[in-house]
This record gives sequence, C-alpha cells and structure tokens, in this order.
Amino acid sequence: MQYRCPQCQSAKIMPVAQGSNAVRPEIPKSLVILVFSIFLLLLLVIACIVMSVFAHGASPILQIATGVVFLVTVGSGLLFWRQLPNFKLSMQGFLQSQKAWKCRDCNHEWHL
Ligand SMILES: [Zn+2]
Repeated sequence: MQYRCPQCQSAKIMPVAQGSNAVRPEIPKSLVILVFSIFLLLLLVIACIVMSVFAHGASPILQIATGVVFLVTVGSGLLFWRQLPNFKLSMQGFLQSQKAWKCRDCNHEWHL
C-alpha cells in the first residue's frame, strides 16, 4: 500500500472515485452528530459571549440550549469513542480497496 505520490513523494494524495461499485467507508452516525453538535456548540458559546458583553447576560433559553447541546456533544463523543475501533477497520478496508489515487501537489494520477 502506497500512501505517497510516486512522482513527487508528496503525502497529499486523495482517492479518485471508482464508479458505483466502490467500497465506501462506513461513517458512524455518532461522528456525524459529534461534528454537527461541536459546530452548534461553538455557535451557541459565541452567542452567549456576545450577549454577555453587549446585552448584559445571555438569555436563559440560550443558556439551556447551550447546556443541552453540550450534553449531546459529550454523549456522541462517548458513542464515537466506543465505535472508533470499527470505524478504523472500515477506513482501512476502504483504503486497501481503493485503487485509483491522485496527487494534490502535482496532479499525477496512478493506479495500484
Ligand atoms: Zn505528486
């Protein structure tokens, strides 16, 4: 398995789509929820800070929402942590079945 470009030895390579029968890595739902809730949490925290600075304290609804999103983030983080070994295996299977690669540095394309 080669994870570098054979032409310029760059590690910035990406898989090339192989049609409809390509094996796709199984993305756990907990990862999707985790990424989404972290993003939401950041927005809410920023909103809380902005409101405390400019409006003398964040509204209770915003504080409750921040707390709920924080709990969701922690919960999905724990779930993803438990699913991580399976996710790693699925990613490894995907990388091994991937035969077409492209280099982002020199645009060189090759097949394994
Ligand atoms: Zn290259």
